Amino acid sequence: MAEAIEKSEVLIEEDIDLSSKEAGSKPTTSLKSRRLPLASTRKQIETLELLDLSKTQHVGNFAASLSACGWEKLMPAKIEIFQINVGKLCNMTCRHCHVDSGPDRVEENMDLETIDACLRALDKTEAHTVDITGGAPELIPHFRYLIDQCISRGKQVIDRCNLTVLLLPRFRDLPEWLAERSVEIVCSLPHYRKRNTDAQRGEGTYEKSMQALRRLNDVGYGKGDPDLRLTLVSNSAGAYLPGNQTAMEREWKAALEKNYGITFDRLITINNMPISRFLEWLEESGNLRSYMEILVNSFNPATVSGLMCRNTISVSWDGRIFDCDFNQMLDLESKQPDASRPHIRDFNVEMLAQRQIVTGRHCFGCTAGAGSSCGGAINT
Ligand code: SF4
Ligand code: SF4
Repeated sequence: MAEAIEKSEVLIEEDIDLSSKEAGSKPTTSLKSRRLPLASTRKQIETLELLDLSKTQHVGNFAASLSACGWEKLMPAKIEIFQINVGKLCNMTCRHCHVDSGPDRVEENMDLETIDACLRALDKTEAHTVDITGGAPELIPHFRYLIDQCISRGKQVIDRCNLTVLLLPRFRDLPEWLAERSVEIVCSLPHYRKRNTDAQRGEGTYEKSMQALRRLNDVGYGKGDPDLRLTLVSNSAGAYLPGNQTAMEREWKAALEKNYGITFDRLITINNMPISRFLEWLEESGNLRSYMEILVNSFNPATVSGLMCRNTISVSWDGRIFDCDFNQMLDLESKQPDASRPHIRDFNVEMLAQRQIVTGRHCFGCTAGAGSSCGGAINT
């Protein structure tokens, strides 16, 4: 198999200089461990809000852009997806990470009490799907308990997996374990090309990702069985929007099958959000204003009704409730009609249904082009 990898590396030789600014972000360490000002979510919001976007539509005011297409207020629809971000611990430190995850984030991880509070809250909703994310969610001690509890409630479960974590010795049995429970695996892989992926996630990531995908294929994932769905998630390397999701899926499927014999069920593309470590890279590389101008000027009204904040709630490792994972990373908690900030212990589905979704300039990341959500492009 090593021979096949070497051969395909030659076949997929890149034509861009990966040391250039345009080539995109490189692996790093967490903002928190470097004690940088941007580790503060307030500083991130301030950086975006103070940016001169006078040359963009509605001078980069998200509420004004919404209002211009008839959305005076962004209100939620019925909760369909109950997303739990179980923590910031991760075995990798990708530069584009909007969570600021890494191996040093050992403190911010969900405990059993908060998991049980999530399950009690879940029982009060009609959500059909529980979307488990992180960090690398597999690393928290009660990951399997959480999944088993969701499955016993008849929920569809998604594990957002970074692939390389599956190679850790303690997770050798995890692909089979997840397959037995029909957990959908949604795997992040920046690109089907080695150089793009390693540049963003660290040397050796690509090869490990291929090994992990083979393991998933070996237990039946990614072969068209709706109970063993394997989804890949791609994000752009640099300060630009991803290509057409449908066309990219065709290209990725052909390339991975030809070069590695790997199959998967679908590809979703997401826009890089201008927060956390990707925001740091945008600033450092001098791309922040131009990227924000792209996002604002690509505002697509047709994406608004399908924004994930409308059918999802997002719970953080410490039980706070947010309109989405991005708001969670900016500490922009959901705001109920009485101005209270809800906690999962006091989950009140009726109150939450009346809330207005909290928005800001980062939201242009979700409405640009074909739109972007945890489920991929909104308008394909
Ligand atoms: S694998 Fe995901 S959570 Fe971990 S550092 Fe990379 S982007 Fe962040
Ligand atoms: S970041 Fe996206 S999903 Fe979150 S509130 Fe803004 S528009 Fe909605």
